Amino acid sequence: MELVYCPACHHVGIKSRLERARCDSCGADARLVAVPYPWQYYVGVGLVLGGALFLFLPQVFDTLAWAGIVASIPVRITFLIAFLVVGLVLTNAGLRVMKETARERGREAYPEADA
Ligand SMILES: [Zn+2]
Repeated sequence: MELVYCPACHHVGIKSRLERARCDSCGADARLVAVPYPWQYYVGVGLVLGGALFLFLPQVFDTLAWAGIVASIPVRITFLIAFLVVGLVLTNAGLRVMKETARERGREAYPEADA
């Protein structure tokens, strides 16, 4: 995922691969800002993937220690929803952190609009 920063209005958006970098707030040319993924993002993605394994591995290997916990379908669905909700909250929090970082870096890299 790539973020773009607009020097004209300080808006931070997500760049799609096909489009030209353009501010979706004011339409001015936006600049690509490289931002690392924060820990919230990795934990969120890991939780969803780990949660899927936690739920579906016992169906393949019935000797796993926690197989009894996730034996019934309502329990599996409850776990699945919990993993997805927490994972989404974390990846959203990570996205907010990324946008905040992109805004700061963009402001430093392209200060012309502040003049
Ligand atoms: Zn703009």
